[in-house]
Amino acid sequence: MKAYCVQCAKEQELTDVSDVTMKEDNKASKGVCAVCGDTVFVLSDEEMIYSQK
Ligand SMILES: [Zn+2]
Repeated sequence: MKAYCVQCAKEQELTDVSDVTMKEDNKASKGVCAVCGDTVFVLSDEEMIYSQK
């Protein structure tokens, strides 16, 4: 899947994508940016994407 990577400041392909549950039972997907290796979270409910760093 593709998502916005904060480190790259652009949309990148994610690898190692897995489903995670955030605080308050928000479902999200977590992946690793194929370019810089940063962890990227993609929230399902909101279109909010942020880096773990
Ligand atoms: Zn990146």
